[in-house]
Amino acid sequence: MSEQEFKLALSYANAAMKLLKRCEIPAYPHFYELLYTYATGVNVPLNARMNELFRSGQPLTTDVVEALCVEFLKSYDVNERITNVSERMHARIESVNDAIDTAMLTAESYSGSLKVASGDLDRGVSADDLKSMTRQLLSETQHMQKTNSNLEDQLEASREDISALQRDLEEVRRESMIDSLTKIANRKSFDESIDNAVEDAVRTGEPLCLIIVDIDHFKTFNDTFGHQTGDQVLRLVATTLKANIKGRDLAARYGGEEFMTILPTTDIAGAVIVAENIRKAIHAKELLKRSTNEKLGRITASFGVAQFMPSDTSASLIERADRCLYAAKNSGRNRVVSEQELAKIIAA
Ligand code: GH3
Ligand code: MG
Ligand code: MG
Repeated sequence: MSEQEFKLALSYANAAMKLLKRCEIPAYPHFYELLYTYATGVNVPLNARMNELFRSGQPLTTDVVEALCVEFLKSYDVNERITNVSERMHARIESVNDAIDTAMLTAESYSGSLKVASGDLDRGVSADDLKSMTRQLLSETQHMQKTNSNLEDQLEASREDISALQRDLEEVRRESMIDSLTKIANRKSFDESIDNAVEDAVRTGEPLCLIIVDIDHFKTFNDTFGHQTGDQVLRLVATTLKANIKGRDLAARYGGEEFMTILPTTDIAGAVIVAENIRKAIHAKELLKRSTNEKLGRITASFGVAQFMPSDTSASLIERADRCLYAAKNSGRNRVVSEQELAKIIAA
């Protein structure tokens, strides 16, 4: 790390601490991380949202900051929950271990008592000694029974706990695949799905297509109407994508204002139809500002469509779809460009 980088990181840290103090927010690690990220300015939507809050004069309460963490710190919610599940798992394992230790100690001492008693019996004992020996053995047997029954209870409780923990983990896993803003598949989910789709296409020889979608002039839209309205548009585009696909197709937010649609068992002609449907549906929607019902006009998006070829990897398929998208942007936006069309554009 250069001295300059060191100083820069320190200045972000100082700015984050200053803000925590000024807004009287407790300096918990995730709050600090949020304000550090804000100080760096790398998360554009986060900065826009926070600046809007500052401008509106709304106080930055712990609740507001907590909500920002859930929305903007990618891993926050999921990580918190994984920690919680693993802490519960740990506590449960500890208590089962304790119960096992106690049961083992009791069994050991019981077996010791049995040994002593059998030695005494071999040597011969008086009737009184026999009585007291029986009493002692009975009491130890009862103690042993109690310990065993406690262990059984613990194991039974653990079984229920472990099933609940498994359900929680499964839910966390599902959530970690969803984009928190638009509630459709996120980048991680897309990366997994495209690899699987490519594998399937290789194995079955079925066609596979990929559509990449990028909202047109979204920066201007955000700058004009604010990030919250921008976020509303992202949700609208996500819903439109979902409404226009079916079955094994997948719609995902790839990043910022870019989306992907994976269409297994679909050839390029079919994929272009889907892309056209989505393009028209987005364009058809007149946007209204929720709070005031003010008309905001319409938005458009551009589309690149590519079909899987046997020599493709996921990365090369995405790259070809991206080239088509680039051509759609260059030829006026609000357009679908497929690979065939790209070839024509290049030839012209
Ligand atoms: P083009 O037509 O060439 O795609 O132009 P553009 O303005 O859409 O593209 P550019 O890549 O320049 O800007 C993308 C903008 O998307 C930048 C940022 O303001 C906005 N953006 C990215 N992520 C989010 C988000 O999560 N919420 C909001 N509201 N805006 C976002
Ligand atoms: Mg973009
Ligand atoms: Mg764009």
